[in-house]
Amino acid sequence: MPELPEVETTRRAILPAFTGRKVASITPLRQDIWASSQRPPSCPLTGGEIFRHGKTLILSFLPETTDGQGHPFSLLSRFGMSGRWDRRPRRAPRLPHTHLEILLPEEELVLAWSDPRRFGRLEVSPSPRESILLSDTGPDALDLDGPALREIFHPLTTPLRKALTDPALLSGIGNIYMAEILFDAGLSPFRPAGSLSLPEACRLSQSMHQILELAISVGGSTIHSYRQEDGSPGGYQRYHAVYGREGLPCIRCGLPLQRATVEARSLYFCRFCQTRSYS
Ligand SMILES: [Zn+2]
Repeated sequence: MPELPEVETTRRAILPAFTGRKVASITPLRQDIWASSQRPPSCPLTGGEIFRHGKTLILSFLPETTDGQGHPFSLLSRFGMSGRWDRRPRRAPRLPHTHLEILLPEEELVLAWSDPRRFGRLEVSPSPRESILLSDTGPDALDLDGPALREIFHPLTTPLRKALTDPALLSGIGNIYMAEILFDAGLSPFRPAGSLSLPEACRLSQSMHQILELAISVGGSTIHSYRQEDGSPGGYQRYHAVYGREGLPCIRCGLPLQRATVEARSLYFCRFCQTRSYS
C-alpha cells in the first residue's frame, strides 16, 4: 500500500509534466471511484501546483480563459491499496484499470489514474479546504514536531502501532513505515500512545522525519503493487531494518526480529531494543 513517501515520490515525478502546462481534457472512465457527485469541468485548463497531504495527492487546475469563465479547482486522489498516477504517451493503448485520463497536448502525454483494487478515491473540490476526502484526516506526518505529536497522543490508550497508522490522528503512515519508525525510536508498538513523555514524543517525531525523508530521497519502497511512477522500483526496501525481516538478526542487538499478527496485519519489531516490558 502506498504511504507518504511513495505519494511524495509520485508528486515530484509528475510535477514537471503538469504544472504550467495546457490541459486539453479530463476524462473520467469510471463512476464508482468518486467521493462526491461533482466531476471535472470541460473548459480549457492549465495545470497548477501539485500538493500532497498524507497519502492524498492534490492536483490544482486553473481556467485558461481570462473572460471570467471557469474557476480554479482541485482534483484530489487518495491512493488506497493500489491507486497510482502514470505518464503515458498519448498514442499508447489504454492500460487495464485506468479510471481517469488527463490529456497534456504540449507534452503529447496522458496522465492516467489507475487503481485495480479500487479502494482509492477521487474528488473534485473548489479547494482542498472544502474537500470531503480530507475532512476526516489528521495533520500530515511531516508537519508534526514532538510537542504536537504528544498533544495528539496524550489522551489515547490505544497502542502506538495503531495510533501512528490512524489517518484521523495523523496522515501518511501505514504498516511499513510505522514498523521502521518505532524501531528507530526504540519504542514498543504495543505501548499505549498516551504514555509517551515529551522527550519520547520528540524522539518519535525525529525518527518519523528521518525515516520518511530518507524514503522520499530514494523513491519510496517497492512492496507488493507499488513501483515508482516511471515503473522503476523504489529503493527504500534496502533500508528496511525490521519490516519483512522476521527471524533475521536485529541490526542493533543481533537477536532475531519478531513478527506478530495483529488484527490480520503483520507487525515487525525487536523484542529487546523496543522496550521489553511492553512487548
Ligand atoms: Zn534489537
